[in-house]
Amino acid sequence: MTPDLILALYEWAVGTCFRCSCSDVHTTPLDRIVTPSGDTYELRACGVCILALERERHFYARRRGLEYQPGSLGS
Ligand SMILES: [Zn+2]
Repeated sequence: MTPDLILALYEWAVGTCFRCSCSDVHTTPLDRIVTPSGDTYELRACGVCILALERERHFYARRRGLEYQPGSLGS
């Protein structure tokens, strides 16, 4: 699967990437953090980092003999 097809599996909006700290870039939601005081922060990642994370998942799945299904980060 090409990088473009992997990125097309996610929904994008302008934001800040939690992984590389780039701001005002296209990002997709990955997770939420709720602090003990009840504040909620959304973790978002940019395309470069999504592709890096997907590559790690791909290697992990291959090592374990599991099927790799891109597009499920954050879900
Ligand atoms: Zn990033």
